[in-house]
Amino acid sequence: MTLHTDLLAPAPRLAPETLAVHAWADRDGRSRAHRTLNAPLYLTTQWEGSSLPELAELFGRDPDRGFYLRFGHPTLRLAEQKLAALEGAEDALVFASGMGAISTALLATLRSGDHVVAHRAIFAQTVLLLQHLQAAHGVQVDFVDATDIAQVEQVLRPTTRLLYLETPSNPVIDVLDVHTLAMRAHALGAVVCVDSTFAGPFVQQPLALGADLTVQSASKSLAGHADVMAGVVAGSSAQLRAIREMRTLTGAIIDPHACWLLLRGLQTLPLRMRAQCDTAQAVAQLVSTHPAVTHVRYPFLPSHPQHDVARRQMQAGGSMLSFAVMHGVHGARQFVHALQWIPLASSLGSVYTTLEIPEELDFADEALGDRADAYAIPPGLIRFSVGTEAPADILRDVSAGLDAAWQAAAV
Ligand SMILES: *Cc1c(COP(=O)(O)O)cnc(C)c1O
Repeated sequence: MTLHTDLLAPAPRLAPETLAVHAWADRDGRSRAHRTLNAPLYLTTQWEGSSLPELAELFGRDPDRGFYLRFGHPTLRLAEQKLAALEGAEDALVFASGMGAISTALLATLRSGDHVVAHRAIFAQTVLLLQHLQAAHGVQVDFVDATDIAQVEQVLRPTTRLLYLETPSNPVIDVLDVHTLAMRAHALGAVVCVDSTFAGPFVQQPLALGADLTVQSASKSLAGHADVMAGVVAGSSAQLRAIREMRTLTGAIIDPHACWLLLRGLQTLPLRMRAQCDTAQAVAQLVSTHPAVTHVRYPFLPSHPQHDVARRQMQAGGSMLSFAVMHGVHGARQFVHALQWIPLASSLGSVYTTLEIPEELDFADEALGDRADAYAIPPGLIRFSVGTEAPADILRDVSAGLDAAWQAAAV
C-alpha cells in the first residue's frame, strides 16, 4: 500500500496544510520496518547488496532503494514526493541548492545551437549561468522584458528550446503572465520553466498555469528557517528523467541531514506563508502611504503594474516586496540605521524578517556588466522579506526606518 496514491486521489483532495504534514508518500520498506511516524534519516553513503547480482541491479536503476548517496536516498524521495504533492506535479527532484537545481535542469535541457528566451530581470546568478552557456556551449540567449508579451513573441522562433521565466522576480518583483507566455512558447514547441522561489507552491502553482517545469531555491521559504540550502525542480516524470540523470553527473544531490531539515520545514509551509503574506500585505500598504517612499512593488497592491496578472495567478501576494526611499542609497542607509531589530541579511523567505539593498550587494558586483541596467533598479531600493514575527513589531520598526529616511531627505 502506498499512502501517496491515497493522498493524491482526485476527490476529496487534501488541503496544502494536510499534505505539508503527511504527504511523505510512499513509506518504503525500511521506514515501515522501523514504524517511524516522522521521516527517517539515514546517514550512510552506501547501501549493501545481499549478493553481487542484487548490488548490480541496484546500480543507479532505482533511486528509491539506495545504492550510493549521489544517486539518491530514501529521505530525498520523501522530500521529492511531498514537494510534488504541494506543487501539483507528477514528480519533483531535490538538489543541494537552488543553483544546483537550475544549473542541472539547464544542462540537461539545452544543446549547442538551442535558443533560449529569458526574462531580462531574473536572479542575477541565473543570468550569469545563461551567459556562461552562451559563451562556452553555443546556446543562444535573448533576454527580453517578459512583462511585455509582444517582446517575447518577437524573439520566439522554431529553434527556441526554452522560455525561462521568474515570477515574482528577484529583486524588482516583476510579475509575468505564465499562462499567456506558456501558450505562445508551446505553439513553437519550447519548454517553459518558471523560477517560483518568490512565491512557492502555497502562493502559486506555475504547472497548473501551463509551465512544464518549476525551479525553486528551497533554501528560502520552502525550508523556511534560514538553516539549510536546497533546491527543487518539479514537472512531469518524463521531463524530469534527463534532469535526474544529470544530477548524478553534476553531483548536486542534497545531503540527507539537510534534506531532513527541508522536510521538517515544509510541514509548516502553509501556516508560515499565510501569516507572512498577510503581514507583507500590511507592510506594503504602510510603505505605500509614507511620504519618504518613491516606489513600491508588491504583487497584491493595486499600484503594481501587473496587478491583474498577479490576482489571476497568485493566491496571495507573497512574503517579498521591494520599495525605494528618497535620496537613493543614502536614504536607504538611514532607513537601515533606524531599525531597532530587523536585520540586514543576504537571503530571504525565512521566519526572520530581513532586508538588503541590492545596489550595495548583488548589483555592486561587476559580473553582470551591462545586463545590470535591464533591472532598472530605482535608487535606494530595499528588498524586504517578511517573516513570522508579530505584525505590529514589524510595522513599528518599518515606520521608524521610513521616518528616518524622510528626515534624512529633509536635511
Ligand atoms: C536564492 C535564489 C536562487 C538560488 O538559490 P540558492 O538556494 O541560493 O542556490 C534562485 N532563484 C531565486 C529567485 C532566488 O531568490
